[in-house]
Amino acid sequence: MIKDDLKKILVSEEQIANRCKELGRQLDHDYADKHNVLFVGILKGSVPFMAELIKRVSIDIEIDFMAVSSYSGTESLGDIKIIKDLEQSIQGRDLILVEDIVDTGVTINSLKTLLYNKGANDVKVVTLLDKPSRRQVDIKADYIGFEVENEFVVGFGLDYNQRYRNLPYVGVLKEELY
Ligand code: 5GP
Repeated sequence: MIKDDLKKILVSEEQIANRCKELGRQLDHDYADKHNVLFVGILKGSVPFMAELIKRVSIDIEIDFMAVSSYSGTESLGDIKIIKDLEQSIQGRDLILVEDIVDTGVTINSLKTLLYNKGANDVKVVTLLDKPSRRQVDIKADYIGFEVENEFVVGFGLDYNQRYRNLPYVGVLKEELY
């Protein structure tokens, strides 16, 4: 069982579910006057968070996904590359980028610039996790689920070499597995 590979659980299923309800209420409030808001999930890490979050949003939204290059093992590759682009036009639209974690900030920083260049009216970021101690670019997510320490985390979408995304909570792997 993959759960046996964890040293500890950092964020439980219940905590994630409760926080998504709160974030949903907050987004309903902040976007009450907006129309046709597009939630953009960053593959693959955002999938469980996107699913949990959108159930808790009651305004009229659409969803789409993008894939960008990210981590191989535990090291950041630096800048991002688009592997899968959006299907919809984003011209003049309000976007909410849905991320699993903001670490160095390189990904959301590059994505925000790219989406504004493509004509988005507004781009906000909602992330399940935030690791502010590792920031390399001066950028903040607009909505944050949980802040984590400077540790490599897995689960609820987050992987280590493509594994552990299916854990229903967020945790830290035992050292001997790296
Ligand atoms: P950033 O561009 O902010 O450095 O990194 C964003 C991406 O790096 C995330 O979407 C995620 O895929 C990956 N990442 C950053 N920190 C972690 C971590 O602690 N665990 C895992 N599994 N991925 C991470």
